[in-house]
Amino acid sequence: MKLISFSHKGIEAAGLVVGEGVVDLSKRLASHPARLRVLLESDALKTVAGLASAAPDYPLSAVTLLPVIPNPDKVLCVALNYKAHAAETGRPLPKFPMIFVRFAGSQVGSGQAMIRPHVSQQYDYEGELAVVIGRAGRYIPRDKAMQHIAGYSCFNDGSVRDYQMHTAHFTAGKNFAKSGSFGPWLVTPDEAGSPPDMTIETRLNGEVVQRAPINDLIFEVPTLIEYCSTFTELLPGDVIATGTTSGVGMARKPPLWMKPGDVVEVEISKIGILKNTIEDEPKGD
Ligand code: ZN
Repeated sequence: MKLISFSHKGIEAAGLVVGEGVVDLSKRLASHPARLRVLLESDALKTVAGLASAAPDYPLSAVTLLPVIPNPDKVLCVALNYKAHAAETGRPLPKFPMIFVRFAGSQVGSGQAMIRPHVSQQYDYEGELAVVIGRAGRYIPRDKAMQHIAGYSCFNDGSVRDYQMHTAHFTAGKNFAKSGSFGPWLVTPDEAGSPPDMTIETRLNGEVVQRAPINDLIFEVPTLIEYCSTFTELLPGDVIATGTTSGVGMARKPPLWMKPGDVVEVEISKIGILKNTIEDEPKGD
């Protein structure tokens, strides 16, 4: 199943993608879960599966895709989780997962503009696999971790590098409003397959700038779930962005920064393409 968060004529809802159409789950389910996070919390995925042959309510092209989970309790991001990326940054391989967080407001959905803030020109892409939690848990052992996953999506951990590098802490550079992107949809594990079998590619204006098999991860998905659930309870709708591979703009000579008018895409096999244009922050914001 492919599940989306979307808005249609100004109303936000959760949807099931059927072919080129959208089944509006907020209309179809008795409990009226207006949000994908609520739907995951209510364990309604089995009911949703029964709508796979339903006639769509809208064409996919008529809705605005929102971040897959617009209002997660938390987005946990992993820094330096590919050996190739650690090497290009000149940092040693981490002994433990390096976790930082993003706020909900720092992300947009596929097709929405990613915003370059007016205080920086060093706006960079990071294509990543996002894991969405479906079942809550604390101290989740590695061998049970996959049971807590609702599905997978693409993530662009858009980064404002000068602000990221101001100090040893990444928070500022990773949280500019609408600087990251999450989508286009959540694909359930039965369709997406297993992360080690996936490949990821990032394209800037059609040119491949990052490409890797997901099995290059230093800390694999079950390890990340085990580690993160040790310090916090993972909740339905929580997101783990699993880190980026080599090829980021910052590490290139000369550096390659995203600028207004650019088109950036993150594609993961069996999941889809997260596509955004870059726009400058409106003056006065
Ligand atoms: Zn990242």
